[in-house]
Amino acid sequence: MKIGIDAGGTLIKVVYVDGDHRTFEKWPSIEVDALIEVLDSQYAEDALFLTGGKAEYMAEKLNQHHGVSIEFDATYRGLKTLMREQGIDLERFVYLNVGTGTSFHHASPEGQERVGGSGVGGGTLLGLSKLLVDIDDYNEIIALAESGNRDAIDLKVHHIYAGRPTPIPGDLTASNFGNVLSGDVAVLEPADKVQAVIGLVAETVTAVGISLAEGYDSTDIVFIGSTLLDNKVMQEIINRYAGLKGAKAHMIKNGEYSGALGAIL
Ligand code: ATP
Ligand code: MG
Repeated sequence: MKIGIDAGGTLIKVVYVDGDHRTFEKWPSIEVDALIEVLDSQYAEDALFLTGGKAEYMAEKLNQHHGVSIEFDATYRGLKTLMREQGIDLERFVYLNVGTGTSFHHASPEGQERVGGSGVGGGTLLGLSKLLVDIDDYNEIIALAESGNRDAIDLKVHHIYAGRPTPIPGDLTASNFGNVLSGDVAVLEPADKVQAVIGLVAETVTAVGISLAEGYDSTDIVFIGSTLLDNKVMQEIINRYAGLKGAKAHMIKNGEYSGALGAIL
């Protein structure tokens, strides 16, 4: 069996590949030492392939033989494999890895290049949610966000133009959290706040993705990273925003395992 591991800032993604069969697993990055123990004791005979920001740490501690790949190359190899399997056939596109932070890449027949990064990502989603509503469980946050409404928190373009014709779609966010001071903070529910946090992250990374795609003459933006996982609110906001701008967002199933899978390939 081959085991690919992408040890990121928040989550360690593990894929076990046995012939045609793949098993996926996530570990919190703070439990890295426990994972190393499991690998050394139960998978000593298997081939290990590491990537991600914490790969070097794991490589130093592991007793068994392993290979280490550069994160961006491994992620691209895994992503291309998943896209091919899912029938997403794009020659030139921009992709966003929305992890703890977000990295932006351009893919063409010549390969990928990293073209930018932002500190706004999944870590922002967790950190701001903790500060605003004192919840730090990812699944709790994304479930709560579904029943929220961010209208009273975000300022939209039509709010500023107040009924007059708008030069860009009025429904676009003019300022994330920019409407808070015009209303009554006391009536805002935790669900509204976490939905607005997700809106901030989703719209910030999508805005950069849209501009990059335009610059590279593409309308296709591919999203990977655990921040999208089961995150209906995030996915809806991304799809809507990309659509308003004439771009197409592609969310890759198991995309958060691109690095782990690519480390093996
Ligand atoms: P990076 O690539 O930036 O080093 P990473 O690889 O750890 O980080 P991902 O696993 O792609 O990043 O995404 C991490 C984000 O996914 C978290 O910040 C959080 O928003 C979200 N997330 C999804 N599921 C969970 C979970 N079970 N526990 C914690 N965060 C989760
Ligand atoms: Mg990562």
